[in-house]
Amino acid sequence: MKVSKIEHIGIAVENLETAIPYYETLLGTKCYAVEEVIDQKVKTAFFKVGETKIELLQTLDPDGPIGKFLEKKGPGIHHIAFAVDQVDAALAEAEEAGIQLIDKKGRKGAEGLNIGFLHPKSTFGVLTEFCSE
Ligand code: ZN
Repeated sequence: MKVSKIEHIGIAVENLETAIPYYETLLGTKCYAVEEVIDQKVKTAFFKVGETKIELLQTLDPDGPIGKFLEKKGPGIHHIAFAVDQVDAALAEAEEAGIQLIDKKGRKGAEGLNIGFLHPKSTFGVLTEFCSE
């Protein structure tokens, strides 16, 4: 895997209405995009911090991945996303290295990015995402 940067950090929140103003104050920048990703049953809000983004995640469904995460662990850091050239190739490389995958192939994520997840069981507890344009 050749990772160029931390693309974003995903943070699970109970509700965007209160989390967005907090992050706008904290980071001194406006939320530049709010988007629903139906596939993942989430509503996302994005902030730029240098080359990296903060992605807030609010669930659209208590049974979705973020809904379950909130129920189990409460709000907090959900995943870290690394930018790679090509998600499919990075996933294949990870699998070859013995890392357990959630996604065998890339799929469409927020902001039109191609994304794929590695399983936290083999990433020292950190849900890890690859993404590419
Ligand atoms: Zn993400």
